[in-house]
Amino acid sequence: YSGKTPNKVIAEKLHRIKVGEVKSVPVVVSEHCSVYDAVVTMFIEDVGTLIVVREGGILEGVISRKDLLKITLGGQDIHKLPVGVVMTRMPNVITVGPDDSVWLAAKKLITHEVDALPVVRPVEGGDKNKDLEVIGRLSKTNITRLFVELGEGN
Ligand code: ADP
Repeated sequence: YSGKTPNKVIAEKLHRIKVGEVKSVPVVVSEHCSVYDAVVTMFIEDVGTLIVVREGGILEGVISRKDLLKITLGGQDIHKLPVGVVMTRMPNVITVGPDDSVWLAAKKLITHEVDALPVVRPVEGGDKNKDLEVIGRLSKTNITRLFVELGEGN
């Protein structure tokens, strides 16, 4: 017997599982995408958060359901309005890396009160903190799915 408490065993496990093992495919749009097309994309792709990228898949921002709801109350033409005007823009986007633990990702979701995080890596030869390439999406659903799998005890 290792002498570890059950909670310690769970904690160690959650720190060992990496974001890269549980992440989903990112659903991305350009910042020139209209608010209308962003809403359609959310329905078609069945996600609650769209990630906004420029050429090369470089992170520019994120758009949530409420961002889109809010802008539709403004009475502007959502066919013409680009998502760039409503998104949460870099450097204010909370991200995780593929080698970060799922625990850290869950902690960020709770601390910053958001539903999803872009999974990013620094662009080779780019500005280390400014240019982040989007390689995935980590949402509350990923955490819940992992919770269910861990609960099955296999
Ligand atoms: P919803 O708006 O559907 O409740 P969120 O709680 O995720 O979804 O979003 C709340 C606000 O936080 C929105 O304005 C959104 O743009 C912003 N947001 C969402 N995800 C992130 C993130 N990873 N980093 C920074 N801001 C985010």
